[in-house]
Amino acid sequence: MARICSKCGGRGVYERRYSGELLCASCFKNSIVEKTGRTISRYRMMKFGDRIGVGVSGGKDSLSLLKVLDRLNRDSRYQLVAITVDEGVKGYREESISHAIDMAKQLKIEHVIVSYEELFGFSLDRALAWKDERDISSCSICGVFRRRAIDEAALRANVDVVATAHNLDDFAQTFLMNLLHGDVERIGWLDPAYFDDSFPVRRVKPFMEIYEEEVALYAYLSGIPFQSVSCPYMHEGLRSEVRDYLNEMEVKHPGMKNVLLKSSLSIVSRLSSAESEHRSVPCTSCGKPSSGGICSVCRMKEVIRQHAG
Ligand code: SF4
Ligand code: ZN
Repeated sequence: MARICSKCGGRGVYERRYSGELLCASCFKNSIVEKTGRTISRYRMMKFGDRIGVGVSGGKDSLSLLKVLDRLNRDSRYQLVAITVDEGVKGYREESISHAIDMAKQLKIEHVIVSYEELFGFSLDRALAWKDERDISSCSICGVFRRRAIDEAALRANVDVVATAHNLDDFAQTFLMNLLHGDVERIGWLDPAYFDDSFPVRRVKPFMEIYEEEVALYAYLSGIPFQSVSCPYMHEGLRSEVRDYLNEMEVKHPGMKNVLLKSSLSIVSRLSSAESEHRSVPCTSCGKPSSGGICSVCRMKEVIRQHAG
């Protein structure tokens, strides 16, 4: 029997189990654009006239985000700027950075690229060269520098907002991982309307209500290139176990990830308003915001200096 799109009667290619719809490629892609637009309005992520920095690593999620935001910006209500951080991983980053450059060019979007080398004085390859001795994961080290690098690029690009491609699965996984690590303070940081008054740029996640598999399908149906190699330092540990668990639950109970997102948002908003008096203080070494004393970037740089020479 022909599988017919629930919206237009065309050939259905995707069954959205949590809503019971069957969609053709074009209605599916439109649904992702519309859904992202609704998330942006619901959480007041962007305002008319804002300069929006879009974090584009060059992977399928961030390239999709740039494309979707470009489609939502047909009336030029925003100014989009692509922001790319080159961590400095030989044999891995070159491919994705070239995808980011191509997409920004194709969409005629301004592009700012910063590197760890230029900002911190070392590439990720060098920072992780002391691999065997450390007891902290590569991604945790990388993540500390990545956040700072995006902030620096955002200031350089003079944007009002930084949008990153975190999807619903990333959100739900991070929420559960913070619970499992007993890191309650970080749960408050997941607030989609979170504004840290020590930093003038809002951080938003327009894909936070979209399933990871739907972002991947959007990328595939839009002909967005998939990176062929993965990062040699990737170490997901607990995150991949949490991901498998959530995927299993979703298969058994379609829509469960959506429910988890809603519950976590309600907890997040209570926590973040309870923490609203939290203030950061300037790092005693670099002057950037820190929770007290020396910031995590300066602390990590010191450890790297001692180990990597
Ligand atoms: Fe950094 Fe980990 Fe991503 Fe590699 S996989 S770029 S180490 S965060
Ligand atoms: Zn510092």
